[in-house]
Amino acid sequence: VRRNPGEPEFHQATQEVLHALKPVLATRPDLLEARIVERLCEPERQVIFRVPWVDDTGTVQVNRGFRVEFSSALGPYKGGLRFHPSVTSGVVKFLGFEQIFKNALTGLGLGGGKGGSDFDPKGRSDAEVMRFCQSFMTELHRHLGEKTDVPAGDIGVGGREIGYLFGQYKRLTNRFEAGVLTGKGVGWGGSHARTEATGYGVVHFLQEMLATRGLSLEGRGVVVSGSGNVALYAIEKIQALGGKAVACSDSSGYIVDENGLDLDLLKEIKEERRGRLTAYAEARPGAVHSERGSVFDVPCDIALPCATQNELGQQHAVALAKNGVLAVAEGANMPTTPEAVEVLRQADVLFAPGKAANAGGVATSALEMRQNASLQQWSFERTETELASVMRDIHALCRTTADTYGDADDYVLGANAGGFLRTAEAMAAQGVV
Ligand code: NDP
Repeated sequence: VRRNPGEPEFHQATQEVLHALKPVLATRPDLLEARIVERLCEPERQVIFRVPWVDDTGTVQVNRGFRVEFSSALGPYKGGLRFHPSVTSGVVKFLGFEQIFKNALTGLGLGGGKGGSDFDPKGRSDAEVMRFCQSFMTELHRHLGEKTDVPAGDIGVGGREIGYLFGQYKRLTNRFEAGVLTGKGVGWGGSHARTEATGYGVVHFLQEMLATRGLSLEGRGVVVSGSGNVALYAIEKIQALGGKAVACSDSSGYIVDENGLDLDLLKEIKEERRGRLTAYAEARPGAVHSERGSVFDVPCDIALPCATQNELGQQHAVALAKNGVLAVAEGANMPTTPEAVEVLRQADVLFAPGKAANAGGVATSALEMRQNASLQQWSFERTETELASVMRDIHALCRTTADTYGDADDYVLGANAGGFLRTAEAMAAQGVV
C-alpha cells in the first residue's frame, strides 16, 4: 500500500491473488527465494501520457492515457484498452495484474498488460472518437508491436475504436502489421467469433462448472449485469443452450423481462443506436425498467456479472443466495467484492472468477494473432470450436490445480494457482529479469 498509494483496486486484486496462493507458496520455497511474487507485483514498464484532441466545437480537450506492460514471461504483453471516465492508474494496474494470470491460463503464449484512458466516448460523435483515438495512438504506437505489446478492446473500446486505432498505427509506421491489435473487423484481419468470444466463453465455462454437479442450463433463469459486448453475447449463448435470460443492466438501471430478453431488440439498441435500456422497456410490452435496487435482486438460478469491477457487493450476494442462486460466473473483471465472494462460498454457490471464466476473449485474440501470422482466416465454426476447447481446458486446469492445493470446487484457488505456476516457472527459468 505504501509503495502504490491511491490504487485501491490494485491492492484488492493483489491481495486476492496472494491470499489464494498461500497453499502454493507454502510448498515452493524456490519461488519465494527467487522473489517471484515481489517481481510479479511490479509492472515491467508503465507509460502515462497526455492525449490532447479537439472536439466538434473546436475546443481543446486533454485526457490521460495509460499502458501498463506487466509481464512478458509467457509472450508479448497482451490486454485490452478501456475508455471510461473512471480509468486511473490503479484501475489499469489491477486489470493488467489480473491479465497475467488469465493469459497464462489460456496456455496460448501471452504476457499480460492493460491500458486505456479517462476519455468518455458516451455522447461523443464518431469524428470526436476518431480524433481522440488518433491522438491516443500517436503516443502509444511507439510502445507496441506484434511481438512486443498487442492491445485489444475493453469497456468503451469496440470495433469502431479498434478501427480508428489501427488506421493511425498503420499511418504512423507505414506497415500493415495486422497482429499489433486484436478485435479488428473480419474484413481486414479480424477473427470470426472475436466479438462473441468473451460472452460465449463465460457460458462454456459455466456449463462445465454446472456439469460437475450434474446440472445443465436448460430452463435456468439467468440474470446478467451490463449490456455491452460481454453481456450481449453471454445472453446469446445462454439462450442458444436453453437458458432464459430475464434481466440485464446499464448505468441507467436495469430491465426485467419475464418473457425472456429479446436479444435482437437489445442488440439494435446497444450496438446500432448506442442507446439506453429505457428504450428497451419502451419498445417491449411487459418489460420493466428500474433505477432503484440492483439487477442482482431479481430472482435467478444463475448470475453473470458482466459490467465492471466491484458491482456485486455483499448485500447483492446475500440477495442472490437467499433467492437460491446455483452459480455465479464473472464475465467482467473483479466484479464481485471479496465480502460477496465469501457470502457465496458460505452458501455453497459455484463461483467462477473472471480470470478463468472471461478468458475466452483473450484466447480468441491469440487465435486472431495466429491467423494474422499465418495469413489465414478460419471459419466461425472452427474458431468457436477452438474457443470451446480452450475454455474446457481452463476449467479442467482450475479444478485439478485446486484439488492439488485444497478443494476442487475452489475455482478462485485453481485459477490463481494455475495461472501463477505457469508464469512463475517461466520467470524462474528466465533468470532475474
Ligand atoms: P462494454 O463497454 O461493451 O460494456 C460495458 C457495460 O457495462 C455497459 O452496459 C455499461 O453501461 C456497463 N458499465 C460499465 N461501467 C459501468 C459502471 N461504472 N456502472 C454501471 N455500469 C457500467 O464493455 P465490455 O462488455 O467489453 O466489458 C465489460 C466487462 O468485461 C469489463 O469488466 C471488462 O474488463 C470485462 N472483459 C471484457 C472483455 C472483452 O473481450 N470485451 C474480455 C474480458 C473481460 P453503460 O453503457 O451505461 O456505461
